[in-house]
Amino acid sequence: MTVKANLERINERINKACIKGNRNPKDITLIAVTKYATLEKTKEVLDAGIFHLGENRDQEFLRKYSVIGQKATWHFIGTLQRRKVKNIIDYVDYIHSLDRLSLAEEIQKRAKRTIPVFVQVNVSGEETKHGLKVEDVLPFIQNLQSFDKIQVMGLMTMAPNTRDDQIIRDCFRRLKALQQQVQALQLPFAPCTELSMGMSNDFEIAIEEGATMIRIGTALIGEKE
Ligand SMILES: *Cc1c(COP(=O)(O)O)cnc(C)c1O
Repeated sequence: MTVKANLERINERINKACIKGNRNPKDITLIAVTKYATLEKTKEVLDAGIFHLGENRDQEFLRKYSVIGQKATWHFIGTLQRRKVKNIIDYVDYIHSLDRLSLAEEIQKRAKRTIPVFVQVNVSGEETKHGLKVEDVLPFIQNLQSFDKIQVMGLMTMAPNTRDDQIIRDCFRRLKALQQQVQALQLPFAPCTELSMGMSNDFEIAIEEGATMIRIGTALIGEKE
């Protein structure tokens, strides 16, 4: 399947989920997760009209960035090691994986402009998943006050890998509730207007539960080649 054909199917599914969840499709940004995609495939994504790209490895991101540059909006979606921050910080538009203070300190130290970030939350509590525990999120964000290079645009999570839709839905719902708690704090450095949640297997549920950014890899690109 071509990227274009896949995109048509995905857009239909997005529209259906928007109707079901009473959402406006304009409020949903599709991030094409190109981490396993070749440069050729990634260009197909751009040709199909998707300009938000998600990468999770610094070298692969830089390789693609060196060709595509600012034609795309770049989302860093993976676990970010502290020592990699300096490699990517000048080129990323969003970081979706802020999950510890040491990483915030490194971003603060290296950034030459304000970086929009998502705080990654491990809602499901699975040990294999990165992210802050739900109960640690509010104090963590309040601690970011002195970091003038960091703007908390929203929260990000990955749902548990399960076929049980209700478990997935509960996870997204809890992230939304947490977002409302952050917004209630009215912190100027944490508007927290966005929710980055939903992947190939669960983006419809995420949309119904309030996602504003969905991160889609395999459904758009196909399996890893
Ligand atoms: C790989 C990845 C995705 C995309 O996953 P698919 O199931 O291929 O859509 C989304 N978010 C993160 C953080 C990822 O690492």
